[in-house]
Amino acid sequence: MIEVTEPANAEVMAEVPRAGAEEVDEAVARAKRAFPGWRDVAPAERSAILRTLADGIEDQLEELAVLEARNAGKPIGDARGEMAMVVECFRYYAGAPERLLGQTIPVAGGVDMTFREPLGVVGLIVPWNFPLVITSWKTAPALAAGNTVVLKPAELTPLTALKLERIGIEAGLPEGVLNVVAGPGSVCGQRLVEHPDVAKIAFTGSTEVGRGIAAGAAQTIKRVTLELGGKSANIVFADADIEAAAQSAPFAVFGNSGQDCCARSRILVERAGMDEFMAALESTVKSMVVGDPLDERTQMGPLISASHLETVSSFLDDDPPVAFRGSAPDGPGYWFPPTILAPMSNDDRASREEIFGPIASVIPFDGEAEAVAIANDTIYGLSGSVWSGDGGRALRVARALETGVISINSNSSVRVSTPFGGFKQSGVGRELGPDALEHYTDVKNVFYYTEES
Ligand code: NDP
Repeated sequence: MIEVTEPANAEVMAEVPRAGAEEVDEAVARAKRAFPGWRDVAPAERSAILRTLADGIEDQLEELAVLEARNAGKPIGDARGEMAMVVECFRYYAGAPERLLGQTIPVAGGVDMTFREPLGVVGLIVPWNFPLVITSWKTAPALAAGNTVVLKPAELTPLTALKLERIGIEAGLPEGVLNVVAGPGSVCGQRLVEHPDVAKIAFTGSTEVGRGIAAGAAQTIKRVTLELGGKSANIVFADADIEAAAQSAPFAVFGNSGQDCCARSRILVERAGMDEFMAALESTVKSMVVGDPLDERTQMGPLISASHLETVSSFLDDDPPVAFRGSAPDGPGYWFPPTILAPMSNDDRASREEIFGPIASVIPFDGEAEAVAIANDTIYGLSGSVWSGDGGRALRVARALETGVISINSNSSVRVSTPFGGFKQSGVGRELGPDALEHYTDVKNVFYYTEES
């Protein structure tokens, strides 16, 4: 059995059966049998089932939010927002089956047309930081396009995915279309990657595991989409609304306790605005409410596990300059206070590695060129922000950054209808929006000869 822990108090909150390679094989076999039937369900009917599935999630939104808040240690308000996004994601892709359009292409001798065909069985590997949200980003477009799914949640957070499987069956998904296998990545994830009957792997997690998945998938030429780590820059120019930037910055890195691939963990501040920025940042960080995820006032919860707390804590081992910190409960549970390091260089360990915890580096710069050079000096390229009162400059800098998602005068990264994904070692492919559907289909080209014989 898997003992599922509540990170706010380090107690076991549930036990679920632990799947192994054999269960993965059985799930893939079920998904393979179900594929032709699901592919051939009329598009409007597939839409209707996905809409019913979205309604089923909405009906259980509060229960799912509480489960996610307890299991992942996230503030209940955030968890409710995430569950609302899950509903929105299934509703968005419920509209897709009737809009998976092909093309007709002018050629000699006949008619050439293209079709977007589902891939078959797809393996979805999901992390623990946004368990059901990331599940929905993959499952909804995969099902909408006519694929069948074997979903592996993280062993630390399997509860909401298991609930989704049941809601799916109640919504009318045929047997074998959505299968959840809760077990360790090194066994179940690995088996999915190797399995010859799995056509594609969609993975979110660490860049290190992502590299192994890309290499493993190459053996059977699987399609792969990877959404990996980040070390995103939040660039604040002296001509920005500094108060607004400083009030927003903590939530862009300490949200979800910093366990967010989009965390803007490098805050680049133009020297001329530094004093004003730091004063406003300090008062916001110090007033952050860190505590019980189920308390409505909480803005930040614990870290996910004892071993992750150890990893995050190690970033203070070589005594970087701690400018100020917020508060955190003593324990039990895996608590770490929001921490600002300043002034930092982009070469310091905490500025280069993905910490995945509530630690931010403030890095000073002078002028546009230096800001861009520092921001791009990383192996990652997932998200980022530019704050400036000069619209032309903000757009110029946004265009110069080697990153997949950028916000101007805001720190938001994700909307269901817009593409999300990384440049460089932050990943391959895109999730959300119409782009995701391309990653769950292949193009078939049919030529129909029409000349008189
Ligand atoms: P992992 O990359 O190990 O885990 C992500 C998912 O991959 C989990 O479902 C995991 O399963 C699975 N997995 C692990 N090993 C394999 C494998 N060999 N083959 C197939 N699947 C596998 O992330 P961690 O949980 O270990 O977190 C470590 C670091 O990764 C974090 O500190 C952070 O830096 C980064 N990370 C980034 C995320 C992002 O959103 N981009 C999300 C999570 C982590 P299981 O956990 O059940 O073993």
